[in-house]
Amino acid sequence: MPELPEVEVVRRGLERWVAGRTVAAVEVRHPRAVRRHLEGPEHFVAALTGRTLAAAHRRGKYLWLPLADGGTPTGQALVAHLGMSGQLLVEKKSQPDETHLRARLTFTDGGRELRFVDQRTFGGLAVEEVRRGGGVGGPIADGIPPRLAHIAIDPLDPSFDADAFSAALRRRHTEVKRALLDQTLIGGVGNIYADEALWRAQLHGARPTEKLTRAQVAALLEGVRDVLGEALAQGGTSFDSLYVDVNGQSGYFSRFLAVYGQADRPCPRCGTPIRRESFMNRSSYSCPTCQPRPRARRS
Ligand SMILES: [Zn+2]
Repeated sequence: MPELPEVEVVRRGLERWVAGRTVAAVEVRHPRAVRRHLEGPEHFVAALTGRTLAAAHRRGKYLWLPLADGGTPTGQALVAHLGMSGQLLVEKKSQPDETHLRARLTFTDGGRELRFVDQRTFGGLAVEEVRRGGGVGGPIADGIPPRLAHIAIDPLDPSFDADAFSAALRRRHTEVKRALLDQTLIGGVGNIYADEALWRAQLHGARPTEKLTRAQVAALLEGVRDVLGEALAQGGTSFDSLYVDVNGQSGYFSRFLAVYGQADRPCPRCGTPIRRESFMNRSSYSCPTCQPRPRARRS
């Protein structure tokens, strides 16, 4: 499943290779890919054809490209979610169709086309209204689709508020890993990045949030930012080949993972074998020495 840095890599690729181009034609090859466009595939095609994709934005794992008509924003956007296996590919027309090609956009400049490929079709595309930025009368170009507005801004977003996050985290009465995975508190931190950030901050995921010191919260946020930033830097290289790729199986994570999936391998900091614990039907990985379990709370 694509995690946040991969989706940000895709956003940057779309901004670079697709923004500013005008859609010539749209082909929906599988209706499930546009099931969130409630008016149906034909309406989806009509809503995009002749429109310019003005920019590429992201909130959490959602991408949206505001639409313009002759340079004027229309108040709508193309919204994309990659689901479990979705890819947005910018490719030459001569490139053979992928087996799981679900939708294709061609452009009036006759250049490379945008393809939505999704083996499991949990992802999808839709055209949605956007809400104006800054309230009524605000700039429509800064608008966000209302369906995405509730998703917390993540640390890769320039408008992320570190102080607000720190204060909100310390107000919660929960375990710190649960807080990191809570999309209403911080966006886009999945299981892998949570474990890696906790290892960097030397905190066990079961530590109670209300007992974390300011310094520990700061170290945790720095860990989240570093791990996301490194993943972003690694994923970014794929653009050199004009290939806007999101593939959860691409394996580029594994080159820098300290603990996730590393059970019984030595901790890169102290050499203690990494431990695996079950957590919400999944696994948590941590170092028993660097990240001791908190003492059980007195009942
Ligand atoms: Zn260690």
